[in-house]
Amino acid sequence: MSTAIIKVKDLVKKYGDFTAVKGISFEVKEGEIFGLLGPNGAGKTTTLEIIETLRDKTSGEVWVDGMNLDKDPQAIKTIIGVQLQAAGYYPNLNLKQIIALFSGLYNREVDPMKLLETVNLTEKAKSKFKELSGGQKQRFSIATTLINDPKIIFLDEPTTGLDPQARRNLWDLIKQVRERGATVVLTTHYMDEAEELCERVAIVDSGQIISLDTPNALIDKLVATGFQRKKELKAASLEDVFLNMTGKEWRDE
Ligand code: ATP
Repeated sequence: MSTAIIKVKDLVKKYGDFTAVKGISFEVKEGEIFGLLGPNGAGKTTTLEIIETLRDKTSGEVWVDGMNLDKDPQAIKTIIGVQLQAAGYYPNLNLKQIIALFSGLYNREVDPMKLLETVNLTEKAKSKFKELSGGQKQRFSIATTLINDPKIIFLDEPTTGLDPQARRNLWDLIKQVRERGATVVLTTHYMDEAEELCERVAIVDSGQIISLDTPNALIDKLVATGFQRKKELKAASLEDVFLNMTGKEWRDE
């Protein structure tokens, strides 16, 4: 559990005169769910895309599963899964056909129906991507990251825009992916999500890591400074009401 599967050292990314990533260093341990948190424009996506071999860095070094990004980008591509944006899918193919196509490209034997079952989408096998709801689209895009049985999966804001149940469904799915042995690196703006899913989080601000620890340790550090949350008077929140009224279990939205 303590082996580093990703190592980032002094990573810098400049866009012209603007430095988006200012010499960050961190490690992701094998088998963990690691979160990159930070305000809009902090440099999270840039950092992820560099590690994913999709964007050039300005300087610094990156190793993925022992392979150096500068020397072995092709080999790195074969062991990672990256959640694609919606635009990446072929509009005229249905879900089953897209998975079949991807497995051909990856040269993998994958049973499309079995994979769709893992993300609870067997009933949509004959549907096109554009016909899916937001949560179904997110689940499908996570399914496509699993086709090459990757060691590491990268998810950039996987639950943005989803309703409370769909978010919880996605959380279950992400935990299952990790239980299958993969390491997960994700970005999120939802702190409840980071707290629920991530073993460790790095807080990124203006291109720098300002804190890196377990959610629990970060909370304890803040509490130790004397910080107190505004007292909550009620035993439930509006989200609890919503979940209670519309059903907590897996549902097909
Ligand atoms: P968000 O939470 O909004 O997704 P982020 O932390 O993922 O933000 P990035 O997308 O990495 O942030 O962007 C970091 C900074 O780099 C931003 O100021 C952004 O405007 C800038 N940036 C990103 N891509 C480019 C580009 N191709 N050319 C110029 N500047 C860019």
